[in-house]
Amino acid sequence: MSAHQARRKTPTVRIGDIPVGSRHPVMVQSMTDTDTADVGATVAQVHQLWMAGSEVVRITVNNPEAAAAVPEIVEHLENLDCRVPVVGDFHYNGHRLLADHPDCARALAKYRINPGNVGFGQKKDRQFAAIIEKALEYDKPVRIGVNWGSLDEQLLAKMMDDNASRSRPASAAEVMREALVRSALESAACAEDLGMAHDRIVLSCKVSDVQELIVVYRMLAGRCDYPLHLGLTEAGMGIRGTVASSAALAVLLGEGIGDTIRVSLTPAPGQSRTDEVRIARDLLQSMGFRAFVPQVTACPGCGRTTSSFFRELASSVQARLEERMPHWRESHPGAEGLKLAVMGCVVNGPGESRHADIGISLPGTGESPTVPVFIDGEKAHTLRGANIAEEFLEIVEDYVDRRFGPGSDSEHRKTG
Ligand code: SF4
Repeated sequence: MSAHQARRKTPTVRIGDIPVGSRHPVMVQSMTDTDTADVGATVAQVHQLWMAGSEVVRITVNNPEAAAAVPEIVEHLENLDCRVPVVGDFHYNGHRLLADHPDCARALAKYRINPGNVGFGQKKDRQFAAIIEKALEYDKPVRIGVNWGSLDEQLLAKMMDDNASRSRPASAAEVMREALVRSALESAACAEDLGMAHDRIVLSCKVSDVQELIVVYRMLAGRCDYPLHLGLTEAGMGIRGTVASSAALAVLLGEGIGDTIRVSLTPAPGQSRTDEVRIARDLLQSMGFRAFVPQVTACPGCGRTTSSFFRELASSVQARLEERMPHWRESHPGAEGLKLAVMGCVVNGPGESRHADIGISLPGTGESPTVPVFIDGEKAHTLRGANIAEEFLEIVEDYVDRRFGPGSDSEHRKTG
C-alpha cells in the first residue's frame, strides 16, 4: 500500500507542452534572479535551471525593458534547444506591459498574477480583467498566486472589520488564512466570469510559516479542484530553508495536495541558483513520487569504520550517477529508478545492500579486507585491493546496460 494518499483530483492545465494536474507527475519549477532586461544573463540562468531539471522557469516582467527582452530571451532559448516554458511574473503594471508588448504576451507560456498587487482601489478589477483578457487573446493559462506578504489589503481590512463585529470573533490568524484562500478563489471565479476556462487556472497561496502553509493549503484543496502550486515563500537560506521547505511540502504532498512545487531558497553568496531545483527533485524522489537520478543509500558512518574510504566511495558513486544520467535518460530509460547502497561495515551493510539493486558493504575496522557486492539481493562479487571504487563503478555500468540498455528486457525496467 502506498505510504501517501492518492493525489487530489484536478483538471489538467497545460503550461506550454507540460501538463500539470493530478494525472501528471508533480512538476518542478524555479525562478530566475537576473535582471530580465539583461537578455544574456537571463538566458544563461534559465538554461542552467532547465539543465538542472526545472520543468518550468518563471522570470519577473517588471518594466518595459524586461517586457521588451522576453521575446528575445525565448528565441535564444529555442536556439539552444532549451524547451522550457517561460512564465512571466507580473505585479502592478502587468496589464500595461502585456498591452504594450504583444510579442512578450505571445512568447510567455503562462502569466502569474498576484491579486494583491494587480492595482489599487477601483483600478484593481479593471487591471485584473485586462490581464485575463490578454491571457484569453493569446490563449495562455494563468496562475493566480496569492502571497501573505502582498495580500489584497481591501479584502483583508473588510474581513477584519466583519470579524470584529461578530459576537465570537475568530483569531487574526484565522481571518488571515481565510482571506488568503478567499482572495485566490474569488480571483479565479472572476477570471472564469471573464471567459477563462476552468482548466486554464492554477492557484497558489504562499506563506513563510510551515504550519500556516499546511493549514492554508488544506483549506484551499478542500474548496476547489484547481491544480495547486506549492511553495513556502521566503523559505530562507541553506539548511534552514531546505528543511523548512521540505517539511511543509512533504506534509502536503503526502496528503495528495500539490501539482507543482518550488523551493524558494535564498542562495548564499556564491551558491548556485540551481540548488533550489535539486532540492525540489530530491524531495519528490525521496518521497517516491518521481525518479530523476539513481539514489544512493549510504550509512552515516560511526566508530566502527574509521576510514573515510566509504564516504569517498559514496560521493564518487553519486557523482558518477549524476554525470551519466543525462545520457542514460535517452539511452537507458528507467535507470533513474535504480537504487544503490554504499555501507560502512558488516552491521547493516549486507542487509541494506540486499534491499538495493546494487549494494556494496565495505569492511569496518578490524574486519576482513574483502568487499562483497550484492546485485538484486544476492551476493554477486567480492572485491579486494586498491581498485575497489573503479571496479564497483564498472559493475554499476554493466548492470545499467544489461537492465536498461537498448535490447534489454523492457519488462524488467523500472519507470520513474
Ligand atoms: S553500517 Fe556500520 S559503519 Fe555504517 S553506521 Fe552502521 S554500524 Fe556504523
